[in-house]
Amino acid sequence: MYKIHTIDLHFQSEKHSIGAFLIETAKGPILIETGPESTWEYLDKGIQKIGYEIKDIQHVFLTHIHFDHAGAAWKLAQNGAKIYVHPIGIPHLANPEKLWNSAKMIYTDKMELLWGKMESIPEQQLIGVTDGDVVDLGDVQIKVWYTPGHAVHHNAYQIDDVIFTGDVAGVKIGDGPVVPPCPPPDINIELWKQSLKKLKDLKPRALYLTHFDLQKNPDELLSGLEIVLDDWVSFIKPFYDNQTPPESIVPQFMEYTRKQFLDKGLNAEEIQTYEFANPSWMSVNGLLRYWKLKEQGRI
Ligand SMILES: [Zn+2]
Repeated sequence: MYKIHTIDLHFQSEKHSIGAFLIETAKGPILIETGPESTWEYLDKGIQKIGYEIKDIQHVFLTHIHFDHAGAAWKLAQNGAKIYVHPIGIPHLANPEKLWNSAKMIYTDKMELLWGKMESIPEQQLIGVTDGDVVDLGDVQIKVWYTPGHAVHHNAYQIDDVIFTGDVAGVKIGDGPVVPPCPPPDINIELWKQSLKKLKDLKPRALYLTHFDLQKNPDELLSGLEIVLDDWVSFIKPFYDNQTPPESIVPQFMEYTRKQFLDKGLNAEEIQTYEFANPSWMSVNGLLRYWKLKEQGRI
């Protein structure tokens, strides 16, 4: 019988911010998500603690190509792993310069500190998987569900009645509320809601969130996320309409979400962990871009 392990990657020395999942199958251990290259040491240690070495991992599934999910995939590829990802993500992993440089415009000199580094993955090790595909690993069948909305290159992966949801089912840390990570460039609220419905209709018993870990009330979580998604996107709209610059929206957005977190009983440290896993300034920029594309008729 296969077994699922969660590895805490201690991103920025914070617990429960970014996870990766190791699944022991009849065909050896596989990974879902790798975390960024900056947390490689924790991934390596986590794999060893379960009783394996990096080179034992021959199959790696990425929910999408954002650095906090996929940034270390190239190192696993160097050790021989096949990397499964939505086809839209393949060119970016094969030639990561463009992805890296556009992120660098946002993160400037913090790039290496946050994400480490990224090298290209040979195309023959990149396997495109999308909606309805099934990858057979002996006693484990991985069903692939295309779930855009957070990112255009986003898949969720199902094993029996549990689903690994990457970012599409939101961020929920400890007993805190579920919130939507909304970084630019491809936030699409309409597609996101369709993806949430798709996940609900699969009637999973549990979800594994990359940020962070096992959730046993999928229906409640997915419905809760839709409410916060609507709330956040409506909060940003008036700022978009009156062309407030993002840097003056961020403190107001942070104050607004801080109140929501305090209402749910979170303390300052817990709010900080949410901020690491899901930075407010990213969500402000992502939601502004959503409104812009919507106004231009591109969504
Ligand atoms: Zn993401």
